Parts: sequence; structure tokens; C-alpha cells
Amino acid sequence: MAKKDIKWGELGFGYVKTDYRFVANFKDGKWDEGELITDENIVINECAGVLQYAQTCFEGLKAYTTEDGKIVCFRPDLNAQRMAESCERLKMPVFPVDKFVEAVEKVVAANKDFVPPYGSGATLYLRPYMFGSNAVIGVKPATEYQFRIFATPVGPYFKGGVKPLTLRISDLDRAAPMGTGHIKAGLNYAMSLYNIVDAHEQGFDENMYVDSATRTYIEETGGANIILVTKDKKVVTPKSNTILPSITRRSLMVVAKDYLGLEVEERPVKVSELGNFAECGLCGTAAVISPVGKVVDHGKEICFPAGMTEMGPVTKKLYDTLTGIQMGRLESPEGWIKVIE
Ligand SMILES: *Cc1c(COP(=O)(O)O)cnc(C)c1O
Repeated sequence: MAKKDIKWGELGFGYVKTDYRFVANFKDGKWDEGELITDENIVINECAGVLQYAQTCFEGLKAYTTEDGKIVCFRPDLNAQRMAESCERLKMPVFPVDKFVEAVEKVVAANKDFVPPYGSGATLYLRPYMFGSNAVIGVKPATEYQFRIFATPVGPYFKGGVKPLTLRISDLDRAAPMGTGHIKAGLNYAMSLYNIVDAHEQGFDENMYVDSATRTYIEETGGANIILVTKDKKVVTPKSNTILPSITRRSLMVVAKDYLGLEVEERPVKVSELGNFAECGLCGTAAVISPVGKVVDHGKEICFPAGMTEMGPVTKKLYDTLTGIQMGRLESPEGWIKVIE
């Protein structure tokens, strides 16, 4: 088989249909074996739990080609684990971690002609998700669920170079103190749409959310965690139990400590101390790290000296080292790279 005739470098971040997707069904208290299918459409009851009460959660990870030509995924077991936690919080049945990883492997292997070549900057984005599929009209958990993974090739994130982002401190909230901010629920995104569209209309790239109880501490943006670098090169990430535990951020903290020998710290970070930091970046699967140049706090501009026009030096090192590990140019910590046979 040959690679698909796709202009990898010109791909954006949009849905492109691939050949196979994985589907498993939960019914009568158990999961079936699951299988790869070709039909990209789903037919469910008009009263399905997902349609009425948003009982759904998802994950996101990438498959890509390493320097020596292997097709790999980055830490899929952590996506499986995180989805299990999302499911528990939403009263959905957990899809077993080992079966999740196997299903990821199956989807990638079946769509290997869609895995972009090394050096293209493009990747095959994988979207595992689950939803309540049977009719539910009284508010309660569904009794039947579907777990799916589809794949879609996506283009390089930093097309035409790195452009540092401008964020605003948000007046709306993403996560309540004892709410669902720490899980990857579709509902967290539905209610963030109003605010992101508004941010874009006002000329900002993203919203920086603060803790909704005291509006004192920074948390994250709508879809990425925050990493900060002090003037003496300590890598700091906000600590809060309403932040979604980004796999990229957790990996970058290991890279900072073990590969770059930097001091790392996870602690509450006040909005008022943002001005003391030298660099700021957003991290997530899509971009790994995007540099933040500026945060606007109700008209007051906080500029990061190192990141206004390009990635700051520590951000760049973190980015180069993690992508080096992912692409097989640097030795990876045990278990981080899953080779797809
Ligand atoms: C998915 C997500 C992230 C990024 O997590 P990764 O595992 O690094 O991709 C960050 N914040 C939110 C709210 C998310 O949903």
C-alpha cells in the first residue's frame, strides 16, 4: 500500500475522512469486542443521552512517523487512563485501558497510509470518544454507550512560523471549584464557545481562565495548560484541581527536570505575579508548546520579555527536546513511545 496523495504540509486542523474507525458498544452491562468499520456516520436514537444531556467525553492524541520510519503514538496509556477518569465522573462505563491502547493501535495500523511522513510536520490526529447512545428522557445515566476512535490527518501547527499569542484574562469561567474542569467532557467545550468567539472578536487568541472562587489564580486556557519560566529559568506550572491534567504539560515538566536539569514547580500562580515571569507558553497535544507574548488583564498589558516575537529560549528548548523525544531523535523515557506494528 502507498501513502495517500495528500499535500501534508498544506493540511490544516480540520476533519478529513480516513478509511477505518474503531467502534465498541456497551450494552447489558458489558463491552463487546469492538471492530474496525468503514462507515463514518452514526445513527442513534433521537433521545440518546448524548443528545439530550451531553453525556460524552473525549481524548486527543497523535500518531506520526519517527526519523527512522516507525509509526508511533505518544503515551496513549495516559489518554486511556484520563478517559477512564472522565467516564467515572460522568457515570459512563470505563473502556479498559489495555483495550483502549489496542484500539488506538488498530486504528493507526488500518489507516497507516494516512500517517504523514517524517519531516512533514503533519500528524495523524486520533480522537477517542464515548457517548450515551440509548434513549434517556428522565435525567439519569444512559445504559448503552458507544466508544469510538477515528483518525484524521492534520497539518503542522506552526505553519508559516511561530506567532506568539495574546491572551486576555477571562471574566467568564471554565470550571467550578468542585465541577468538571479536570475531566475531558464535551460540555466543558460547549460552554467555552461563547467566550472564545468573543475573545477572537476582541482581537485575542485565547482566554486565560482564573480560579472561579477567588479570581486570584491563573488556571489554563480553553484547551491548553500553562507553563511559565522565571527569570532564573525555573519552570512553573499552575496547581489547581480544576485544571485538565495535560499529558503534554506533565511530559514537559519531566523534560525540564530530567533532560534540561531545570528546577520545576507546580504551585498556585497569582494573576498579579504574571509580570515577574520571563516566558509563558500554552501546552497541549496539538502544538506541544505555543509561546504567549502578552496577557491583557482588563486593559493592563503584561508582556513576556522573551516571547514577544518568537519562542523564548527555555520554551524553545522544551519544545525541541520533547519533539526530539517524540520523533525518535532523542532517547525517550521508558514507555513514552508506543510503536505501532
Ligand atoms: C485536552 C486538554 C488540554 C491538553 O491536554 P493534552 O493531553 O496535553 O493534549 C488542556 N486543557 C484542556 C481543557 C483540555 O481539554
